[in-house]
Amino acid sequence: MRSQDLLNIAKEYGSPVYVYDAEKIASQYERLTSAFKKVKHLKLNYAAKALNNISILKFMNSLGSGLDTVSIQEVRLGLLAGFKPEDIIYTPNGVSLEEIEQVAALGAQINIDNLSILEQFGTKHPNVPVCIRINPHVMAGGNSNISVGHIDSKFGISIHQIPHLLRIVENTNMKVNGIHMHTGSDILDIEVFLYASEILFETARNFKDLEFIDFGSGFKVPYKEGDIETNVEELGKKLSKRFNDFCKEYGKDLTLAFEPGKFLVSEAGHFLASVNVVKQTTSTVFAGIDTGFNHLIRPMLYNAQHDIQNISNPDGKARFYSVVGYICETDTFANNRRINEISEGDILCFKNAGAYCFTMSSNYNSRFRPAEVLWYKNEAHLIRKRETFDDLIRNQVEVNFNTPSETDKELIKP
Ligand SMILES: *Cc1c(COP(=O)(O)O)cnc(C)c1O
Repeated sequence: MRSQDLLNIAKEYGSPVYVYDAEKIASQYERLTSAFKKVKHLKLNYAAKALNNISILKFMNSLGSGLDTVSIQEVRLGLLAGFKPEDIIYTPNGVSLEEIEQVAALGAQINIDNLSILEQFGTKHPNVPVCIRINPHVMAGGNSNISVGHIDSKFGISIHQIPHLLRIVENTNMKVNGIHMHTGSDILDIEVFLYASEILFETARNFKDLEFIDFGSGFKVPYKEGDIETNVEELGKKLSKRFNDFCKEYGKDLTLAFEPGKFLVSEAGHFLASVNVVKQTTSTVFAGIDTGFNHLIRPMLYNAQHDIQNISNPDGKARFYSVVGYICETDTFANNRRINEISEGDILCFKNAGAYCFTMSSNYNSRFRPAEVLWYKNEAHLIRKRETFDDLIRNQVEVNFNTPSETDKELIKP
């Protein structure tokens, strides 16, 4: 979408505001499906936690996507958005048996990632087919916070526990219809990913009732100039061939599943904020904007680098700015970044603001969460209103201290 469209949206809906480009989401979806077109049954389950607005979920459903969920609330959102229960996979970590049973009752595909729950669930519900999350212990991630395949990770059932896992399956007579891995957030080295896949195929041979193999996600998208992204075309070529060979050996056309979040929505998102103040100190020029890590926490949480453009002054001379938020503690979006000359009132646009941005926002400093707008067929659609003061106090229960009782007086005696 054009900068002018973004500026118009900021004018009409105010700032800060999240804007999502539906066309970009659709083209990413198309890119991934065509990379795997040689596979007979491909299923993409969009990871709802990346961006869970109901209109986004409905749009994903309209593209033919399934849904990957990590909580019963996400399952319910998915059902509300029109996904069929069988198109929803539930991959929680560390949740209670009760929640898993409730999700099973809703009809979603259960994915279990520890032996204790597997045994309890299998004993009580041997007829509900489950998928099993394997930890292949492969380090595929970039930042150590987001590499979940390594040896001391809390995710998945270790490949070293397969014998124990098989005993549980045999003793409970449960049906395993899928196996799964999700190793980390960045697939940069395709060979590493293929190596982890081999471990998954090896594990798959132990189960006779499989319907699908789920390779999780971790597709990397570029955040800043010079970033490498996952070569999905090459991965598609290599993994499809390997998968098809495996299906032949297995004697059944299984479904190849992925659950991309970031890949589908990251680049579709733009976060617009206005500049409240340009503050020159002895060493730095700060651009203070009308938002903070309460709305976009990734730079402070993961050291993520979101590209920032001054869309109000695209031809301005580039200067160095530190872009900071209004939260009353360290709240830095960018340090000494080259940005086209900034004046107070300008609109700055954060790129890659689709994934893990709005969904991680909060009311810290008693600020309202921003509005969200979907840009679809050259038109802006408001898909979430900006919060109001009522939203801040909605669930709060006031205690009345107007007439101090004798005990209160007691408390404040010197
Ligand atoms: C978060 C998550 C994903 C999505 O990961 P991205 O890096 O956003 O693609 C996929 N699967 C599971 C189980 C997840 O928890």
